[in-house]
Amino acid sequence: MLLIIIALGWNMLRSSAPSPPSDPIPPMQHDSADPMVQGGSGSKQDNGVQSPSDPNISTGNDIQQPQEDSDRTLISPEQDKPSEQTLQAAEAVWLAVGDIMVHMPQLPGSYDKASGSYDFNDVFEPVSGILRKGDWVLANLEAPLAGDHYSGFPRFNAPYEIADALREAGITIVTTANNHALDQGYKGIERTLAHLDKLGFYTKGTARSKAESRKAVLIEQNGITMGLLAYTYGTNGIPLPSGKPYAVSIWDEEACVKDIAALRRQGAEFVTVAMHFGTEYQTVPSESQRKIARAIIQAGGDIVAGSHPHVVQPYEVVSAYDTDGRKRQGVILYSMGNFISNQRGDTKDNGVIFEITVRREAGTGQISFENIKPHFTWVHRYKDNGKMKYRVLPMEEMLKKRSDKQLSSADYKQMEKAMSILANRMNKLKAAS
Ligand SMILES: [Zn+2]
Repeated sequence: MLLIIIALGWNMLRSSAPSPPSDPIPPMQHDSADPMVQGGSGSKQDNGVQSPSDPNISTGNDIQQPQEDSDRTLISPEQDKPSEQTLQAAEAVWLAVGDIMVHMPQLPGSYDKASGSYDFNDVFEPVSGILRKGDWVLANLEAPLAGDHYSGFPRFNAPYEIADALREAGITIVTTANNHALDQGYKGIERTLAHLDKLGFYTKGTARSKAESRKAVLIEQNGITMGLLAYTYGTNGIPLPSGKPYAVSIWDEEACVKDIAALRRQGAEFVTVAMHFGTEYQTVPSESQRKIARAIIQAGGDIVAGSHPHVVQPYEVVSAYDTDGRKRQGVILYSMGNFISNQRGDTKDNGVIFEITVRREAGTGQISFENIKPHFTWVHRYKDNGKMKYRVLPMEEMLKKRSDKQLSSADYKQMEKAMSILANRMNKLKAAS
């Protein structure tokens, strides 16, 4: 039985002197006898893992020996899982960006006639300095890469080269569970994953087989192991391919609870859950988003990396207590906005690169999240030789230097305004509490 209580601190900053929970949520009830039904597919859920109600399982930071050898293994637990005696202090940087959108107007300016291919490297170059500082660097790819005929909204199909540019810019982890995952059918899923694999990305969220959908994504950086999960609220009404309910990871709370427990058992010291959810263009999270995010933290998730609303939403840091009373933090990033898109106005042309320092304490292995910092970005769009060009700009840095030749004084004013709106929005949840 999970016994985790969440203290709802509407804090945007890490609390260095935490107070006891003032607004506890009752512990979740999990009855392992209940059949697990997968949302969307209508089929019985079988994650091939033990129920979290198993007495051997903790959702805390205790490092456990692997209970079983399932197909959810990426790294060898014997080799890589440190015992509590040998745990050293360690630190690594977690970074994430929001939605990677590819609308049709973004294509001509990045097309190279001579080679007959696209090159999007210029688009991300201005933020690559920030991205390359990260040890885990995540993005949500909101368009299948299916080759042939490219298309924009409502059924996206983006050039393969967009992924090449993301890799070049420093992104290493791509999640694909989102409402556009099935825009190009199952073929789109296959081709997207094949290309992402070729480029060496870690991926999560869509799958070409049941085994792939269950594979544990465990990524070790500087000796700290992160587990990764990804879910989407749906696929724009496009049904999951027949006989392939595993193709897209649809949000299912009970499945998520099991998946987190499985990752913990296999050595994850913290778990990131990429969640595609919320209401488009809403600048504060919906009740449903808050409920889902809390359920994830309650189940033992540590960072919720949200996307889908196409605008930046506030974030919060919550405290969770494990059965042994040990406190841990949960970081909820409700929406990181558009990292790249052709959407303009009302902050749809802004996004955020979220930076979190993940620290492990020597001996106890306690994980903490520090130096939480949003780097706000702006998609600068301009004409060059009659073609539209796009660049993702780190606003704080650009405003400090004020030396970019492509930017007019109106552009700088626009960035100043956006910075102030976004910084203010980050505090909204705090003000509401
Ligand atoms: Zn979406």
